[in-house]
Amino acid sequence: MHLDPASGHTDCWAAQMLRLFSNLGSDYAAHAPAALEEKITYYSNLHLPVRQLVSALQARYDSPWADERLREDPRTLVSLPTSGRPAGALGVKACRYLNWMGISRGHRMGKHGMHVHCGTYINAAHHQCMLRFRLCVWPLEVSRNGQRPRAARVCRLCNANAVEDEAHVASECMAYSALREKHWGQNPEDCMDIAALMQHAHDDPRAVAHYLFDVHSHRTRLLQPGGGLKSSSHSHKDHKCSGVRKVRMTRR
Ligand SMILES: [Zn+2]
Repeated sequence: MHLDPASGHTDCWAAQMLRLFSNLGSDYAAHAPAALEEKITYYSNLHLPVRQLVSALQARYDSPWADERLREDPRTLVSLPTSGRPAGALGVKACRYLNWMGISRGHRMGKHGMHVHCGTYINAAHHQCMLRFRLCVWPLEVSRNGQRPRAARVCRLCNANAVEDEAHVASECMAYSALREKHWGQNPEDCMDIAALMQHAHDDPRAVAHYLFDVHSHRTRLLQPGGGLKSSSHSHKDHKCSGVRKVRMTRR
């Protein structure tokens, strides 16, 4: 039985757990007796302070989220100079989670400790679509080909010359105006910006999931060849009115 790193056997499950405890501030291996029988007795009678260990783990998880830079709006954060960034600072995606998606320390949970949307019946496809949106993994221009300057990652579905990020798609892009009217016509304040929309997701996750699913489906349709986009034969005025322009299908 080799439980402590000093024994040279550090790859077993117990040794890994001891290393984890040590990492969290409780170094049980350091106090273990050297004699085998005594060591067995020591570990057999060990009472783990589970609450204390979980708190230490939570504090470790939370500490990067305390970075003040993450309080910035994500669009502001990316415009800030990168020099002087505090060590351990998270990136813009974490900033999006915090400011737009409500995913961070202090997020609202349901009565069983789950996210509210996990305790509500939601169409599975809608639910998956919302989860992917909240995790910022929709294939939006902002997330594609990170070698391009951010300013070049513009939305291909409207004339706004705006970066296609989650906020643009959810509440700004004119290509989805009709969907916004359909879903939020009665309560436009619920979709006035992405923070409002994701806040509303706590109150009515099914409605938000349905809206995001429709947006995703509409976007996918428009980006398909012949997917309902205005053709180049339409006048500039037509494009301007519709807010939709012809899509370049080549990857940029
Ligand atoms: Zn757009």
